[in-house]
Amino acid sequence: MTARSEFQIIADLFAPLARSCPGAYGLLDDAAVVAVPAGRELVVTADALVSGVHFLPDDPYGCIARKVLRVNLSDLAAMGADPYGFLLTCAFPVDTPDSWLVDFARGLADDVALFGIPLLGGDTVATPGPASFTVTAMGTVASGKALRRGSAMPGDLIVVTGTIGDGALGLIAAQGEVGLCCDQVGKEFLVDRYCIPRPRLSVPAALSGGIRAAMDISDGLVQDLGHMCQLSGLRADITLADIPLSGPVHCCVTSNSSLYEAVMAGGDDYELLMAIDPAFDLPSEVDGVPLSVIGRFTEGNGCHVMGISGGTWQPKKTGFKHF
Ligand code: ADP
Ligand code: MG
Repeated sequence: MTARSEFQIIADLFAPLARSCPGAYGLLDDAAVVAVPAGRELVVTADALVSGVHFLPDDPYGCIARKVLRVNLSDLAAMGADPYGFLLTCAFPVDTPDSWLVDFARGLADDVALFGIPLLGGDTVATPGPASFTVTAMGTVASGKALRRGSAMPGDLIVVTGTIGDGALGLIAAQGEVGLCCDQVGKEFLVDRYCIPRPRLSVPAALSGGIRAAMDISDGLVQDLGHMCQLSGLRADITLADIPLSGPVHCCVTSNSSLYEAVMAGGDDYELLMAIDPAFDLPSEVDGVPLSVIGRFTEGNGCHVMGISGGTWQPKKTGFKHF
């Protein structure tokens, strides 16, 4: 077992991340007390990362800590919420080296500072099985203003942030599979995008007045857009040629068009997918994050993709499913 008891792990490594929130009581009490500002509502979400499912067993713990927080921040961004605080449940394998725990806390501390979100509590256990980490994140939003998935309107533009497919090809690159045409710098870019999502927290507020529905893309663009279609009772038509691609992904799909499958259905993008009022004056970027129109919602149902040379492009699978 590690050199520290769970009490020392909490006191030494996690309590410093709780300092900015008085209601966390230094992680010394049974629970934290949360005050919701007047006129605002609490937005709550949880996401788990499990070794062998969401990360590779020897991925650096500092990166895993950042990823488990960031995937939750991406959900808060999708709801239009501002970060408030988070709970962290860790199941560390019994033989986890102390240096890995320190690395985990250091990575988490970086993002606690970067996103201004304090740690409010959690649980720390040892497991004979694989490592797993669960964050429950809380955000706040002006009452009644949370962004939903099901409120797109016919004629709305379908807009995504950033670039699509970096995470999916980053996973392929991290697994060392051959067949990606990009150079070493390109592969490192993709692996970084897979390991460290960029939650697009500032985008919804910048588009207020035009944004009608939103979600984050975590399980593959085609599948996630399908969820939005279903909940909004609409059809989506998107164009493969309009999907924003990073340089390395563009290079990969140009030399091997079967990689569009991973780009469109692979997941791990953590970009925002939004329905935007066509009358809204859409900026081309927000805080340096590009916005791209990839299609339109209309009456009907299902997500339809127009291929590069016309005709319908049909993925073999639409996205990631656990079961
Ligand atoms: P109990 O098991 O009696 O509920 P714990 O020892 O699990 O108490 O927790 C004591 C305090 O430490 C609580 O405030 C809890 O929220 C906090 N805590 C435990 N694990 C973590 C963690 N991984 N991250 C943040 N806070 C934690
Ligand atoms: Mg406990």
